[in-house]
Amino acid sequence: MIKIQRRGDLHIIKAGSEVSGRVIMWTNLYYYRGIVIDCGCINVADEIFKAIESIGEAKAVFITHHHEDHVGAAHLFNRKQVKIYASKETTKFLKDPPAIPEYRRIVWGQPKPIEAEPVSNSITVDEVDIDVFKTPGHSPDHVIYKIGDMLFTGDLIGSLKPRIAYYDEDYLEILNSVENIVMKLNFTAVLGGHLIAAKEDIINFIRYLRTLKNRITELYNQGYTIDDITNTLLSNVPKKVLMMEAVSRGEWKRRYLVKSLLGLKSDTKESGNRGTQ
Ligand SMILES: [Zn+2]
Repeated sequence: MIKIQRRGDLHIIKAGSEVSGRVIMWTNLYYYRGIVIDCGCINVADEIFKAIESIGEAKAVFITHHHEDHVGAAHLFNRKQVKIYASKETTKFLKDPPAIPEYRRIVWGQPKPIEAEPVSNSITVDEVDIDVFKTPGHSPDHVIYKIGDMLFTGDLIGSLKPRIAYYDEDYLEILNSVENIVMKLNFTAVLGGHLIAAKEDIINFIRYLRTLKNRITELYNQGYTIDDITNTLLSNVPKKVLMMEAVSRGEWKRRYLVKSLLGLKSDTKESGNRGTQ
């Protein structure tokens, strides 16, 4: 399913596949004066491609990172010889996409191989200037794009109040990318894969994460285990968070957020529903 909103020359395209008649997770992609930023998921790739064709010509596609809910329709642009740009690290994943587990195949779909060109600094496409900034944290290959006063941030900030993390996410790196890269830029709008926010929201995001990090560290230094800390600070959370933990087979957990803010991130997902610490 696709929904399109327009703000001047910017088209916000919300895309998501329906499971049992409803969309479980929407992902935003964007079209601005011929530039497409991110590509939704493959389960709705045809709809996305047609929606963009109906808006205008796609002159280039820019991908923020390799996750399946951001690259879905890119192979269709490949077929039309539209250039696809991504970080050097992302291009490797796009060429040979990693196999994803079943629940993600149902919600988003397994990406197809995509040929993309590496981009690292600034590039101009038909008079639109696009600046590229490395912003690791959500994934190691992640970049954001700046066009005028708009920042296209992919999943660098997945939620303004994170209570859960993906096993591969590094929240200390996310903090570093947001504080030292995003906040140094001149911008008014943050246009992400799952949220749209203003500068003030990003300041509050940093404040929330810093406070959470301090409370986690305090409890850890008092001898609390990771599970104790998780239960103390992250038990009163929205249902959606608990659902993600339940269905993701160990890929998303509240305790990963705690570990990562302590600098104890592990690179592999933990087996079973609970960790050992
Ligand atoms: Zn992602």
